[in-house]
Amino acid sequence: MGEVKATTQTTLEVGEGAGGFATTQVTALTHWAQKYSLFMYPFVTACCGMEFMSVTSPRYDLSRFGAEAPRFSPRQSDLLWVVGTISQRQAPVLKRIYEQMAPPKWVIAFGTCASCGGFYDNYTTVAGIDKIVPCDVYIPGCPPRPEAVLDGLLLLMDKIQSGSKDPAIVKPRTDPVTSQSHGLIKLRRGRDSMV
Ligand code: SF4
Repeated sequence: MGEVKATTQTTLEVGEGAGGFATTQVTALTHWAQKYSLFMYPFVTACCGMEFMSVTSPRYDLSRFGAEAPRFSPRQSDLLWVVGTISQRQAPVLKRIYEQMAPPKWVIAFGTCASCGGFYDNYTTVAGIDKIVPCDVYIPGCPPRPEAVLDGLLLLMDKIQSGSKDPAIVKPRTDPVTSQSHGLIKLRRGRDSMV
């Protein structure tokens, strides 16, 4: 592919001469690039961390979503994974890390403790990270299965593409009443377009 040149706010000229055009919106192209180049900052505090390590192993292959690279500086990260229980003493640290990340930035609550405090209904535990930082995706589970985590990541990618600010919650893959499956995870290579 040759030179890529933005000719207006809504079209791109691709390649050389006639016949090399791709029509899209610049924002759609930007969102498409952002959702496939997430640099994660893992803020891991408790037992959910074991499942997080599993998710980041080759078996589940986060690299196919462009989200496998960890950065241990918040200034180089745009995806904050909050993994595990957050105590009141940790809360200011979490807030500071979030504030050090440059926008655009996104937050995923990994597990029930991060989502709502879990069964730690006491004065030492924060009842959900959204009391401290804005949260984009909640992944329930104690701990969540890797497949649920991947569903959460795909939910976030869809939010980035659409530009939605609404928080999203990962649903069970199988409806407990109807036993019907409605999991999100699919190998979606090649499904996305830039339009
Ligand atoms: S949700 Fe369960 S596994 Fe995860 S940190 Fe809380 S108690 Fe541990």
